[in-house]
Amino acid sequence: MTARSFLSGLECRACCTTVEPDRLIGVCPTCGHTLLATYDLEGARAVLAPAGWTARPGGMWRYRELLPVRSADSVVTLGEPESPVLRLTLPDLAPDVDLWAKNDGALPTGAFKSREMSVALSRARELGARAVFLPSTGNAAVAAAAYGARARMEVRVYLTEDSAPELAATCRAFGAHVRTVRGTISDARAAALDQEPGRGSVELSTMREPYRLEGTKTMAFEVFDRFGADGLPDVIVYPTGGGLGLAGMFKAFTELRALGWIEAIPRLIAVQAAECAPLVRALRDGSPRAEAWPGPIEFLGGLTVPAPFASERVLEAVRWSGGAGVAVPSARIHATERLVARTTGIVSGFEGAATFAALPAILKEGLVRPGERVMLYLTGGGISVAIPRLAERAEAPGLPTRS
Ligand SMILES: [Zn+2]
Repeated sequence: MTARSFLSGLECRACCTTVEPDRLIGVCPTCGHTLLATYDLEGARAVLAPAGWTARPGGMWRYRELLPVRSADSVVTLGEPESPVLRLTLPDLAPDVDLWAKNDGALPTGAFKSREMSVALSRARELGARAVFLPSTGNAAVAAAAYGARARMEVRVYLTEDSAPELAATCRAFGAHVRTVRGTISDARAAALDQEPGRGSVELSTMREPYRLEGTKTMAFEVFDRFGADGLPDVIVYPTGGGLGLAGMFKAFTELRALGWIEAIPRLIAVQAAECAPLVRALRDGSPRAEAWPGPIEFLGGLTVPAPFASERVLEAVRWSGGAGVAVPSARIHATERLVARTTGIVSGFEGAATFAALPAILKEGLVRPGERVMLYLTGGGISVAIPRLAERAEAPGLPTRS
């Protein structure tokens, strides 16, 4: 890796505080909101061309100029491939639409969380972190555990009790410390904040550190690489829990526009389960932020985020792109997951199935016009099959940590 990162700083959109980026930091020191990475895009434009990106070997680290990691030696990678893009023909579900899917199930930990954790752990390691922790409903924990193993960093995950047991087993197999917590991801975070002080660990919760978001930008960079400026999807349909991926894709498209490489940004449609839809409700109500969804809430995988942090960033991504929010009953999503497997050969997971299940409502509401190009972003079902032999041995002594 010879190219360098054009990371120039961190900024808070809520209070306009700017922060020097090359030290470990979580949220804005002034107001506690999310810090976003900024880049010297003028400098990047002088040395970069779209063809140069496309010509490099595949994978998310080919976008290193617009990723925050300074040194090639710091990169924690499991060899992330460019995730597959498939054309779909589903006349019953979406007639008259140029329909595509991008499937992040092909990434090393079976979900788009690989992108986030590759970047976040690379940057944490680069800035001197030895241990990280996060609350999770599952796939983020597995990714943190896997990339933590690769980085030889200590990882502690606080999993919601309703998460599939094989996810906890998989995290343990990667050497992570796992605690399961009754309740939602908010309760899991509360448990983490109770346990972690004094341990010298860095929090990797959604939107509470700057760099997971940077990893999700690579989803949009790959879409741009695949389709080019003239063929970008008109609409990207995205299954939304905390909304990090939506905010990241919007940031990436905004950076591409600032580079002068694209003009229009795809309209982003956030899909949530009707039983837990705080972001969709805020979009429909015109609220600047999402209020917490009242519980109790059935477990809906990665879509179970009743109180998304920094929802302002997600809502502005959807609104500024010209997009919208759509909620779908979870029973329909479950039924659609089986339909998707049978009719496409794709293991979409519950989250990905939500994008298919939302299509009738999206078309009925006129959010997509006939002939438009629509991409369903399948965030990945995760590693769904634990390896029992590994899980049994998960308590065995691990390799020595980096010294
Ligand atoms: Zn602030």
